Amino acid sequence: MIKINRGPEPSLLVQLRDLHLNRIRQLRREPISDEIYGYKVVGEFLWKAQHHKCCYCENKIRKAFNDVEHYRPKTTANRSPGCALKHGYWWLAYTWENLLFACPSCNRSYKNSDFPLATGSKSLCAETLPPDQEIPLIIDPASTINPVEHIHFVYENNYWWARPRNGSIIGNKSIEVYGLNDGDLRELRKDYYHTTLKPQIYSLNQAITLNNTDLLLFEFNRALAMLEPQNLYVGFSYDVLTSEINNIPQITSLLKKTWPTPSEIG
Ligand SMILES: [Zn+2]
Repeated sequence: MIKINRGPEPSLLVQLRDLHLNRIRQLRREPISDEIYGYKVVGEFLWKAQHHKCCYCENKIRKAFNDVEHYRPKTTANRSPGCALKHGYWWLAYTWENLLFACPSCNRSYKNSDFPLATGSKSLCAETLPPDQEIPLIIDPASTINPVEHIHFVYENNYWWARPRNGSIIGNKSIEVYGLNDGDLRELRKDYYHTTLKPQIYSLNQAITLNNTDLLLFEFNRALAMLEPQNLYVGFSYDVLTSEINNIPQITSLLKKTWPTPSEIG
């Protein structure tokens, strides 16, 4: 998971929001899921802004058959452990800042209606804008929080596992709620390591051994390019490259270039 920049709100959504929210308000009760529709028209905008990737697992996905996802769930919300209220955030169902694009595995199998709040946190009142006094325990990748500062990847027992970076509480909860250690996802990360990351690490480490500065610069730039947001698994790639490239401080000193910190990824 990396930071997402949605860009400006599509004007289409502005028009639809008034229309649909007025319709929902006239129900004079909590809407059910089938009554909240029309927001999917922004799917293509989100898909492109996210470089055709799922906002949580960073898999490349097609526009069709994938979901416009609500960070704050639109109907029912499970706010455990912080709050027992279950109502959804229907008034944010057409809010650009609440919309993301996700694969069904992340959205429907894992996150679903979960929206854990910190213990003692107050849930947002209907028709108010977030965050007010609400303290979510899961990371919104399109917020000012950089997921890479809160989640890192470590190799244990034959797989790369997502773990909270520096004991991050929101990192820990996000890994659980978004299913970042799902078995299929671990297999896919492992494949990417062997087919893409490992050869690049080998080439860069070879350039160090050969003491060839031109080659070293070329391979270093290729490694950096793997951290551009359009690539697969950027958060994962950052930790693999950082841990397996030999002596990054020496390389950066020689090339007069810096290796990014977690806060610079995304
Ligand atoms: Zn996903």
